[in-house]
Amino acid sequence: MAEILENVSLRNLNTFGIESKARYFSRPKTRDELISLLRQRHPAGLQKRVLGGGSNILITGDVDALVIRYDDASMNVVRETDEHVWLRVGGGHNWHELVVRCIETGLAGIENLSLIPGNVGAAPIQNIGAYGVELAEVFDSLEAVDLGSGEVHSYRSDECAFGYRDSIFKNREKGRYLITDVVFRLNRKPDFRLDYGDIRSTLGAMGVETITIGAVSEAVCRIRRSKLPDPAKLGNAGSFFKNPVVSEEVFEKLRALYPEMPGYPSTPDMVKIPAGWLIEKSGWKGRRIGQTGSHEKQALVIVNYGQATGTEILDLSAGIVADVSSNFGITLVPEVNIW
Ligand code: FAD
Ligand code: NAP
Repeated sequence: MAEILENVSLRNLNTFGIESKARYFSRPKTRDELISLLRQRHPAGLQKRVLGGGSNILITGDVDALVIRYDDASMNVVRETDEHVWLRVGGGHNWHELVVRCIETGLAGIENLSLIPGNVGAAPIQNIGAYGVELAEVFDSLEAVDLGSGEVHSYRSDECAFGYRDSIFKNREKGRYLITDVVFRLNRKPDFRLDYGDIRSTLGAMGVETITIGAVSEAVCRIRRSKLPDPAKLGNAGSFFKNPVVSEEVFEKLRALYPEMPGYPSTPDMVKIPAGWLIEKSGWKGRRIGQTGSHEKQALVIVNYGQATGTEILDLSAGIVADVSSNFGITLVPEVNIW
């Protein structure tokens, strides 16, 4: 039976490093422990919240809820063919450790997603993506426990409505489930994605002659370490906002005004504009207000210089949204989950 603790500090459990107390906190290690935790008698109306690695949340006060951190880090091969291996992984498994394990065992598909913080159970929530690859490409299915009823539900890939940093679990089913297991379909033969950003040039600088999934992972790690603040040293939750996606028509009008504005093809007839560029051009890159600010190397990352509260960070983000809106007519939407 998973123990329930009271008034637990979440400071070391969120990568922003925000101090906050959870009224109740529990860490079930198995699905059975989770279900019996959910079926216990709790105070009427008690909310349940799921916490993974805490790398995509902004906590804005004490959390008057039962906060559940699921600790199952199991990993099993469930099916194999000449081309693919299906791996079932517990929601509490660290994401980057899964990437490393796959590379060690020659399983390709997630090497470009190296060094993303957090746990496997959170990965489908925003369909994690980086360096031209998204989780959806290797996702097979998941199992999740309904936090209200304790029932187990399964979702296939086509039922998850995966989109750009988006899924059904960030919209219609937001807050309903705890994802306990994810099944990945990994490739025995790599399909290298090297055309994004500095991957090729970094592989060149590393002196790599024969490309391997390990070399690609190492290149991605090097690029990330050179650009992104390490949450262990400077609190942050990665990109604070999503990159906005606008119609080609809107993009062309903006480009007439700002010829250097970058844009990348998104879904048909739509263009993705890097939010970091809009924030930088609005004068926020590297700007600090008290204990928080936009990072000096990547404007899209908001950092905690040590003692910021969640509300201070939220206020700073509102200032950024207002300036980008008045400069470009685009409303930035947070990617980070606000608690
Ligand atoms: P948490 O922050 O704990 O939770 C995020 C949300 O998911 C919350 O709403 C929570 O309730 C819910 N949740 C968590 N676990 C579960 C579960 N098991 N079941 C149901 N709901 C759950 N993201 C990218 O996509 N690409 C990147 O390249 C990337 N780079 C990053 C770099 C840095 C330095 C940082 C700090 C963050 C980065 N992120 C990136 C964001 C973040 O790492 C991912 O979104 C990650 O998947 C969050 O995992 P987590 O376990 O920390 O989730
Ligand atoms: P970057 O390379 O400076 O690029 C800025 C933005 O432009 C990125 O967000 C990216 O969109 C887009 N972009 C760049 N080249 C592209 C291409 N060839 N095709 C399509 N889109 C392109 O970005 P960065 O901040 O250093 O991050 C590198 C990668 O890591 C990105 O994929 C980013 O999403 C990911 N990352 C995510 C987080 C997070 O918290 N979500 C944090 C850090 C890094 P995309 O975001 O769609 O790739």
